[in-house]
Amino acid sequence: MSKTFPPSPEIAKNAHIDSAKYDAMYAASIADPDAFWHEQGQRVDWIKPFTKVKDVNYNFGDVSINWYSDGTLNVSANCIDRHLETRGDKTAIIFEPDDPNEPAQHISYKQLSTSVNKMANILEELGVRKGDRVVLYMPMIPEAAYAMLACARIGAIHSIVFAGFSPDALGTRINGSDAKVLITADYAPRGGKATPLKSNADQALLHCKDSVKCLVVKRTGGQTTWTEGRDFDYNELVLEASDVCAPAEMSAEDPLFVLYTSGSTGMPKGVVHTTGGYLVYASMTHEMVFDYKENDIFWCTADVGWVTGHSYIVYGPLANGATTVMFEGVPTYPDASRFWQVCEKHSVNQFYTAPTALRALMGQGNDFVTKCDLSSLRILGTVGEPINPEAWNWYNEIVGQGRCPIVDTWWQTETGGHLMTPLPGAHAMKPGSAMKPFFGIEPVILDPQTGIEITTNPAEGVLCIKDSWPGQMRTVWEDHERFQQTYFSDYKGYYFTGDGAKRDEDGDYWITGRVDDVINVSGHRMGTAEVESALVAHSKVAEAAVVGFPHDIKGQGIYCYVTLMNGEEPSEELRKELRTWVRTEIGPIASPDFIQWAPGLPKTRSGKIMRRILRKIAENDTGSLGDTSTLADPSVVEDLIANRAGA
Ligand code: ATP
Ligand code: MG
Repeated sequence: MSKTFPPSPEIAKNAHIDSAKYDAMYAASIADPDAFWHEQGQRVDWIKPFTKVKDVNYNFGDVSINWYSDGTLNVSANCIDRHLETRGDKTAIIFEPDDPNEPAQHISYKQLSTSVNKMANILEELGVRKGDRVVLYMPMIPEAAYAMLACARIGAIHSIVFAGFSPDALGTRINGSDAKVLITADYAPRGGKATPLKSNADQALLHCKDSVKCLVVKRTGGQTTWTEGRDFDYNELVLEASDVCAPAEMSAEDPLFVLYTSGSTGMPKGVVHTTGGYLVYASMTHEMVFDYKENDIFWCTADVGWVTGHSYIVYGPLANGATTVMFEGVPTYPDASRFWQVCEKHSVNQFYTAPTALRALMGQGNDFVTKCDLSSLRILGTVGEPINPEAWNWYNEIVGQGRCPIVDTWWQTETGGHLMTPLPGAHAMKPGSAMKPFFGIEPVILDPQTGIEITTNPAEGVLCIKDSWPGQMRTVWEDHERFQQTYFSDYKGYYFTGDGAKRDEDGDYWITGRVDDVINVSGHRMGTAEVESALVAHSKVAEAAVVGFPHDIKGQGIYCYVTLMNGEEPSEELRKELRTWVRTEIGPIASPDFIQWAPGLPKTRSGKIMRRILRKIAENDTGSLGDTSTLADPSVVEDLIANRAGA
């Protein structure tokens, strides 16, 4: 049995959801989803109220997903206008620039309204109409949020491309969605360096239709080249633009945005989210999972280029009238104390980040954290990958000072919002466990071979979801066939997540990694996450990635890539020590066959380890690495290939 961490009596007492309420609400959400979601649908303002709640078909060949489909609403009106009367002067966005010496900005709901209305009018002047696509390629500046909300205001569909992507990736996505306008900035300051976004955009646009217009926000004022007739200066247009733009009346099922998945497992998929259900789900999960209360300062460190930034920097918090922090920088600039300094500076109450950032910061030592005043923190969260118990404990003890519940939120670009997570006041957390389904979510574990539901505990297998929820993706952009193939064909009648999971004796869920990452050693199936967590638990190991490779006797062998802590030297002795360590932590069956020292691991630009590439290297099949367009730093891969361990 793993150690559990129940919420403190004070947290449990004050939380929106305590244990009894969770049980009752969860049971109600499953027993009568229509009634449950009818009630939750009231958390947004409708122009025309819905009469239908759910209309879903999961049958392969006929998959269709609709929520609140006869209702109409506008997302920007829900995120802005409805707050103006009571929260007009309240800060909607705190902008914390990359350079700590540049002053932070506090943007009130009134100011947000002015800026979004102006941006909406500028887009209309550029010819954008309801249903048109607008691509954003932006730094983490308030104008990125204005642009998202401006699209929503006029009914345009935004597609954000993370500013770290290359001109090629940007061009592909502009063409893929047949966008009318690209919104970008001159430069994107990050970690003391400035990425030349406009120049990247220029290169991308060479491969796009001539009719695509480019709206440019001045961030640094640095030099850019200009194409008359195609490029438009936001800072100039905004001076003249009207600050009144009526919100378009959108159907609940009109698309709100298209967003590509991270590309960890293959070609990124253009995920389509729609208007009504998405907003209900983003707002509800933001409030309940983070136990958000009026006047809390909420900080999600993700980039708006990822779904986490969509749901938990912009749409969820603003729908709830919250104050949301937008951080332009990186955790290690000017030094490894930056996150914690920002928490102190803005008295952050909820802090939400990714395990990759925590592992990187953990390797730098505790002083960077402990020298800051973190007494404002109440709730911590993680997302993106399984969090190793070692990193969890560090987060809990050093950052949260043992006081803050950690919500380990499991979800996907496809799901729009959290599907499994502990709730701060309701669940005794277990480090590394995503714990319980959110309301309305029915996870099932299937036998990977037979596809039959395993109903007893403990269980391990493929993680699927039985029924729909309002925040679910509706289709792959212009490729409904791929949507059905990817999510509804392998296990008929379920939404297939692509992830593996375990359910323990208490019925709590543990994500074991991608189904493709499960390894089978001499007939024993294990998730790579388990071996990685054992390695990371060793004091000299900062990060580890584990993959299987074909093995004559065992079927599959275990190949480990290990990044050592700052200042630790690789040696044959340490290799032996780590092997023994894993054997004692998990058992002889998990004994690594190869350990390769990895100065860095291949990651997506959102910071996730790309095991499919590591698998190819372990298999010595480096001629065909697959789609590498989302790889953050290609030189890491070259190094790993050159220093491959084993035969
Ligand atoms: P692609 O689908 O293109 O391969 P991706 O799956 O990495 O990329 P995302 O939608 O950004 O794209 O990530 C969702 C995945 O991240 C989940 O399916 C899961 O594997 C992993 N994940 C997210 N949060 C957690 C978590 N809290 N615990 C474990 N795994 C998580
Ligand atoms: Mg995925």
